[in-house]
Amino acid sequence: MENKKELRAWLDDLKLEHPLVIAGPCSAETEEQVLKIANQLKDTDVSYFRAGIWKPRTRPGMFEGVGALGLKWLQKVKAETGLKTATEVANAAHVKLALEHDVDLLWIGARSTVSPFIVQEIADALKGTDKIVLVKNPVNPDLALWLGAIERLATADIKKLGVIHRGFSTYEKTKYRNNPEWQMAIELQTKFPDLPIINDPSHITGRRDMIFDVSQTALDLNFDGLMIETHFDPDNAWSDAAQQVTPQTLVQIMKDLKIRKETDAEAEYNRSLDNLRAQIDVVDNQIISLLGKRMKAADGIGSLKKQKNVAVLQSKRWNEILGRMVLEGQDHGLSEEFILKMFKAIHQESINHQEKIING
Ligand code: PEP
Ligand code: MN
Repeated sequence: MENKKELRAWLDDLKLEHPLVIAGPCSAETEEQVLKIANQLKDTDVSYFRAGIWKPRTRPGMFEGVGALGLKWLQKVKAETGLKTATEVANAAHVKLALEHDVDLLWIGARSTVSPFIVQEIADALKGTDKIVLVKNPVNPDLALWLGAIERLATADIKKLGVIHRGFSTYEKTKYRNNPEWQMAIELQTKFPDLPIINDPSHITGRRDMIFDVSQTALDLNFDGLMIETHFDPDNAWSDAAQQVTPQTLVQIMKDLKIRKETDAEAEYNRSLDNLRAQIDVVDNQIISLLGKRMKAADGIGSLKKQKNVAVLQSKRWNEILGRMVLEGQDHGLSEEFILKMFKAIHQESINHQEKIING
């Protein structure tokens, strides 16, 4: 990870005028399905055709991929359409087979990145390869685990590296299938600005109607590319049906996305501005979600006070909170005036919530 410029070389060598696009079905289902989708994707912005051959399914008994047979179909895709190919590998045997079938880009899935044993096994099997290897984030939001996987691959002398941001699973249901936690991707970019980062809006959203917005946020946050699951008949796909789009929709998405390719000073300024604004949007969303959580706790307190017939306003506790927050604010460069104003508003909302519960 020392020679930073080298990290981007494989991407720069593609000389793309737009973000890198990896597209294709969640799973390879039949030879006809794979070839039909690939043919609809050639002559578009898509550079790499993806298809899962071995599928990590949460529960047994679901379609677990066609296995090595699908690698032959990927070879046909390359021969027929000129698209380069990509698939997930999850152990040394997968790696061996994928390399034998000349797959151009291999990715490590989110469920594999969590296991240093598996990542090491894959790194050893890939040692010195000139194929592109992308590491999906682990299912849990642990930046060190993600970086650790990259380091294992870099140590195995794999030069063409990158990451895929596919969101993180949460216990609480959110509007996403996998919560983006954009701040993790931002942190990773800050640490390794030259490491290519691809966004996977399909697995983040789990829903095709949200793919455009997540893709736009990713591009505003300076992501280098997108991996989007694509199927000619999404609703009847054998896995991840709800999140796949048709090749026609993918083309439309790519057309509608605001992509900045200019490089002059003005464009650079706009790009930086959009990037910072996107970062602010991420934080604002977090603030709202945290405030929502705080009010839920206030509702709980309201119920308890109602049971015990205790007054809503507890001035002593409130003054303690204010004092602590003013000090905390100082550490973060926030003025006393601002903290007092903000907490007064939060406190008022909290009281309103509790009163609603007590009188409700
Ligand atoms: C996939 O890309 O189809 C896949 C299984 O992804 P993830 O590892 O992100 O769940
Ligand atoms: Mn999938």
